[in-house]
Amino acid sequence: MTSLPEVLLSRAVLRCIETQAEAAYPQECCGLLVGIRNASSITISRAEASANVAGKTAGVDTCRRFEVDPRLRLALMRELEESGETIVGLYHSHPNHPARPSRHDRHSIWEPELLWLITAVEKGKAGVTTAHLPDLDDRDFHALKLRVVDGKD
Ligand SMILES: [Zn+2]
Repeated sequence: MTSLPEVLLSRAVLRCIETQAEAAYPQECCGLLVGIRNASSITISRAEASANVAGKTAGVDTCRRFEVDPRLRLALMRELEESGETIVGLYHSHPNHPARPSRHDRHSIWEPELLWLITAVEKGKAGVTTAHLPDLDDRDFHALKLRVVDGKD
């Protein structure tokens, strides 16, 4: 197996995700991660919040499901053209569930190049955040090492 990249995340971006996860509770929050990926690491420079559009489908419980707004993705892709940065992943929260991929998450694997961040929220308070890389062959995720670094600001 090839070695997996390490994920670098600033404390400020992590706090941004945690704040959003707490505000959305008990619903799931979600969004896209922007940054730079190379062979050994994925550096996340910002988290772009999305509406959880899973709620637009009748009968879908957004306390258990999420779906990133495809319009956000298109807008970001356009904005990032020639910037050197790309969409490196997506994030969502797990209200009252541990920060590991659920069975539904494993069924939702579609793009092996996008990493997933999952933030657990318990009683409205953000807990652990973990990073995972999908594996299309296994229909499963590999846990990635997540390093929170102190940014300049
Ligand atoms: Zn999930």
